[in-house]
Amino acid sequence: MMERSPKLLILGAHPDDAEFHAGALSIRYREQGYSVRWVSATNGQSGHHTEPADVLVPRRRAEAALSAQLIGAECEVWDFHDGSLQPDLDLRHAIIREIRAYQPDLVLTHRPWDYHPDHRALGQAVQDACYLVTVPRVLPDCPAVAHDPVVAYMVDLFQRPTPFHADFVLDGTGELECVLELLACHASQVFEFLPFSFGSDEPVPDRPDDRKRWLSKWFQQSIQRRVETFAPLLDRPGAKLVEAYEVSEYASQSNPKELAILFPGCQKTQL
Ligand SMILES: [Zn+2]
Repeated sequence: MMERSPKLLILGAHPDDAEFHAGALSIRYREQGYSVRWVSATNGQSGHHTEPADVLVPRRRAEAALSAQLIGAECEVWDFHDGSLQPDLDLRHAIIREIRAYQPDLVLTHRPWDYHPDHRALGQAVQDACYLVTVPRVLPDCPAVAHDPVVAYMVDLFQRPTPFHADFVLDGTGELECVLELLACHASQVFEFLPFSFGSDEPVPDRPDDRKRWLSKWFQQSIQRRVETFAPLLDRPGAKLVEAYEVSEYASQSNPKELAILFPGCQKTQL
């Protein structure tokens, strides 16, 4: 595996999931000159309290493209409906075609248990697609890959039926400012829908500089439990942004040397 630079594919349920859950790792990849591709399975049509789908979907596509452009990542937003994603054959086949076409070395996605049904559905569908990407008679019009990629789950804090097992943790303090810039591209979410949906201590200001400060504070609060949970696994204290990844046992099992390449600058935990 990997006679070339590694390629990272993030399969998120919504157009901003890659940045929220693995923005820092995406930035690390791009800094090394590695390829990154963000795919949103849904079109994000339900992610607003006032804007109708015909306005919101093109707006969210543009937001996702702008964010990806900032770090030179590829980006695609599929057209499954937000809030209605199912782990069905249509989704499984779309994932198999995506993995066969892009040939990533590492795929990141959600765990099949998470607060959002779209996240759960996508995690299940990725798990279902993993082995089948190597089976030539499945979607025979699309050549199978010789090996399935390593698949890892992006961080969550859910405990049942089983807590997230952090195999790798990343101190993203150095990437925090850039992650905030990526998130700010998703204005329909971070400045409008998410404060409406999850609440915020302060109203969202209008001026761009004030908005930056507000977003920094809001994001820090929103990841506080994540940082408290996973920062103790890092050798160096004081991390302001932490990402964690759990390697799936349903896909390729790489050796430690290859995993170190796939998770650049991340710390392997002793869990
Ligand atoms: Zn999401």
